[in-house]
Amino acid sequence: MHRPKPDSEPMKTLVLYHDECLNHDPGPRHPEGADRVRAILSALKNMAGIEILPSPLANREQVCRAHDPHYWQKLVDLEPDNDRLALDPDTFLSAGSINAALRGSGAGCFAIDQIFAGKSRNAFCVTRPPGHHAEGNMAMGFCLLNHAAVAARHALAVHGVERVAILDFDVHHGNGTQAIFEQSPEVLYVSSHQMPLYPGTGYADETGCGNILNLPLPPGAGSSQFRTSWSTLGLPALHSFQPGLIIVSAGFDAHQDDPLGQLELQDDDYSWITQQICEYANKACAGRVVSILEGGYNLKALASASTAHVEALTS
Ligand SMILES: [Zn+2]
Repeated sequence: MHRPKPDSEPMKTLVLYHDECLNHDPGPRHPEGADRVRAILSALKNMAGIEILPSPLANREQVCRAHDPHYWQKLVDLEPDNDRLALDPDTFLSAGSINAALRGSGAGCFAIDQIFAGKSRNAFCVTRPPGHHAEGNMAMGFCLLNHAAVAARHALAVHGVERVAILDFDVHHGNGTQAIFEQSPEVLYVSSHQMPLYPGTGYADETGCGNILNLPLPPGAGSSQFRTSWSTLGLPALHSFQPGLIIVSAGFDAHQDDPLGQLELQDDDYSWITQQICEYANKACAGRVVSILEGGYNLKALASASTAHVEALTS
């Protein structure tokens, strides 16, 4: 008679975080602050089905699979001992920024290692600063290292994955991710975002080598246009691509209460898109989904939307 093994617990959703992510300090009036990750962790701390582990630092080899080594060395050399340095009007380097960014990229790589080792089911990386605006040789839009890009290249280089899909539902277009992969057919990048809005890229006719799918949405689009866009274009592209791993650039600034965007999504939309992604991943790539925090600037909305996201990852 077949009996389940008494010690066979269902695999959990890995949540990665590190206190060093609090040290990046773009200034008191900057929307991207340490309270963002505090708000998410506080909302997740008693959730069933998750395991919270410290995020390791990414190493130089991991970083430089997605970034120019000269760019990375320059950032390391520029890191101030105290106070902060403006890299552009939105993007700052403070004491502690380098390790904060390395914890973000390290979280993505470690999550992939854990999932491929069969130790975790899927993962959410609660790290900052965010990453999807950082290009191979340029910091911008609050971002220093492109964690989703570093993670995708790690999966391709180390785990023998042939194709990786990066799905981005942040309200802003991930210009950095697009720029890094626009000549890389082994990576599919699909982004829904508000247009017009920073950074001004992400038109539907930007298609890379046929591996970029931009889904620009007008201000006020709301649930119905968001869901229609993913149902009719984004998810079918994911299905045709047949990736071995899905990385999510999980920005929550398309929420109706976010001060930086006007897409008017609700918590339930984050449940829905996450369910759609996980449903496909369960059928096609053993459920392998690594989600990485991008934007989200209303702390209450960030906490509730990311809770909806993680509940869908665990269910
Ligand atoms: Zn954003």
